Amino acid sequence: MSNRQTSTDVILIGAGIMSATLGTLLKQLVPDWEITVFEKLANAGEESSNEWNNAGTGHAALCELNYTTEKPDGSVDVSKAIKINEQFQVSMQFWSYLVNSNLIRNPQDFIAPLPHMSFVQGKKDVSFLKKRFKALSNNPLFRNMEFSDDPDKLMEWIPLMMKDRPANEPIAATRIESGTDVNFGALTRILFEQLNGQGVDIKYKHSVDNIKRTSDGSWELKVRNVDTGSAEYHAAKFVFIGGGGGSLHLLQKSGIPEGKHIGGFPVSGLFMVCNNPEVIERHHAKVYGKAKVGAPPMSVPHLDTRFIGNKKSLLFGPFAGFSPKFLKSGSMFDLITSVKPDNLVTMLAAGAKNIPLTKYLIQQVMLSKEKRMEELREFIPNAKSEDWDLVIAGQRVQVIKDTDAGKGTLQFGTEVISAADGSIAALLGASPGASTAVSVMLEVITKCFPQYMEAWEPKIKEMIPSYGASLLANAELTEEVQASSARSLGLSGEDLPVEMHA
Ligand SMILES: Cc1cc2nc3c(=O)[nH]c(=O)nc-3n(C[C@H](O)[C@H](O)[C@H](O)COP(=O)(O)OP(=O)(O)OC[C@H]3O[C@@H](n4cnc5c(N)ncnc54)[C@H](O)[C@@H]3O)c2cc1C
Repeated sequence: MSNRQTSTDVILIGAGIMSATLGTLLKQLVPDWEITVFEKLANAGEESSNEWNNAGTGHAALCELNYTTEKPDGSVDVSKAIKINEQFQVSMQFWSYLVNSNLIRNPQDFIAPLPHMSFVQGKKDVSFLKKRFKALSNNPLFRNMEFSDDPDKLMEWIPLMMKDRPANEPIAATRIESGTDVNFGALTRILFEQLNGQGVDIKYKHSVDNIKRTSDGSWELKVRNVDTGSAEYHAAKFVFIGGGGGSLHLLQKSGIPEGKHIGGFPVSGLFMVCNNPEVIERHHAKVYGKAKVGAPPMSVPHLDTRFIGNKKSLLFGPFAGFSPKFLKSGSMFDLITSVKPDNLVTMLAAGAKNIPLTKYLIQQVMLSKEKRMEELREFIPNAKSEDWDLVIAGQRVQVIKDTDAGKGTLQFGTEVISAADGSIAALLGASPGASTAVSVMLEVITKCFPQYMEAWEPKIKEMIPSYGASLLANAELTEEVQASSARSLGLSGEDLPVEMHA
C-alpha cells in the first residue's frame, strides 16, 4: 500500500456501540493514546445499535426464557442467566461511572426503568416457568422476582394482554421491576460525542476496504472516502474491527490465522410497531414469551414498551427472516463473498445441518401481515391490524465455526477473535449483544493488552467496582452495586442531582 496519511495508536472500525464502548474505556485508561474511528455511514449508531434496529432490552436474563434451559432431570439450568445478569451489572456500573464523571449528562437520554416479564401459556410451560422462578428468585441477582398464575393479578400487571383473553388455558407470568429499556442508538451517539470532545478523530463516510499487516507489525488500512471515492491509507498499532455484520469480511482481509475456518449466518429482523396511542398507553413492560418450535433463540416473541425520542412506543417481534446481507445497508453478495477456501467445508457443513432453520427463516420472510397479526394476538387477543405497522430491524450475523459439537456449528453468542500478538481484534456475533458491550470490550482489552492489565486494574476497579469479583458469591456487593447503579442512572425513583438534568 502507499500514500500513508496518518499513523495512530488505535483505529476503531465502525461507529456502533462496541467501538463506542472500547474507545471510551481506552480513553479512560490511557488518555494520551490517539484514536481514530472510521465509519462508512454518515452517523454513529445507524446499523444494529440504532434504537429502531434492536429491541432495546437491557438483557439481564430477567425475562428471556432462552437463557434458562430445562435439564433432562427436570431441574432448570440457570448458569447462563447468571452470567448474562453479571455482565449487565458490569455495563450498568460503567455507565454509572460515566454519569458520575459527567461524561454522560442525562442518563434518561438512554436508559429507563421498565418491568421485565416472562409470559407463558399451557400446562407444560406454566410448570417450567414456576421452576425457573424458584431456581432464580432466591438468587440476589434476581431478588424481587414475582410469579403469578392468578388472572386478576395478571390483569393488574398486563391489562392489554389479559383483555378478551379466553379463560380456557393455564397462563402464568413472572415480573421483576428492576428491568430496563435501553436506547442503544442514543447511548452510542452520546459516547461518540464525548469521545470527539476528548480529541478522538471520527471519520464518517469512510469505508475500510482492506487491512494489511506492515513490516513493523502494525496495521495499514485502505479507507475509501464514500463521497469522493478516493482511497486513503491509515496505520495503527492496534485495530479493533467493530463493523457489526461487516466484521467477518474485514477479519478475513486481515489474514490472521485466528480468523480462518469461521463463517457467518445472516438473520434479518422485523418489528411490528403500534400506531395507536391508546393501545400504547395500556401497556408498561417488556413481556417475553417462548420461542416457537424450530425458531432460533433470537426470534423469541416479545411485546415491549419502548422509550424512543422522548416518546413511549409499543413494539412486537422481532420476526426473524432470511436475507443474504450482513448489514442492513449491506450487499446481496455478502453471504456468498464470505465463503473462502478456508471456511468452505465449515460453511457447507453448516448449510447441510441448518436446512430446517433456513427453511423456517425463508417462510418467516414470506409471512403476510395477517399471519404476523395472528402471532401478535397470542399476546394481545383483540389486536387490530390497522393499529400496527411493520418496520425492518437490524441484521444479525451468527458465527459458524467448527466446535466439539461438529463442523459448521451455528453459535448464538458473541465471539472476540484476536491475533496472538494482540494487535488486532474483531467482534463477531450479536447476542446478548449491546447489553454486554462493556464486558465484551473488557475481554478485548484483556486479550490484546495483557502487558498493561496490572497497571490498569485500579482504574478498571474505579469504573467497575465489581471487576474481578463474583457477584453471585457476594450478596452484599451485589446489593451495593445494584443500588448505586440504580441511583446514578436514575432508575431508583429517586431524583437525580439537579445539574444532571441541565
Ligand atoms: C433485531 C435485533 C434485536 C436486538 N435486540 C437487542 C436487545 O434487545 N438488547 C441487546 O442488548 N442487543 C440486542 N441486539 C444486538 C445489538 O443490537 C448488537 O449486538 C449491537 O448493536 C452490535 O453493535 P456493533 O457495534 O457490534 O455493531 P453495529 O451497531 O452494527 O455497528 C457496526 C458499524 O460498523 C460500520 N461498518 C461496517 N463495515 C464497515 C467498514 N468496512 N468500514 C467502516 N465502517 C463499517 C457499520 O456501518 C456500523 O455503523 C439486537 C439486534 C438485532 C438485529
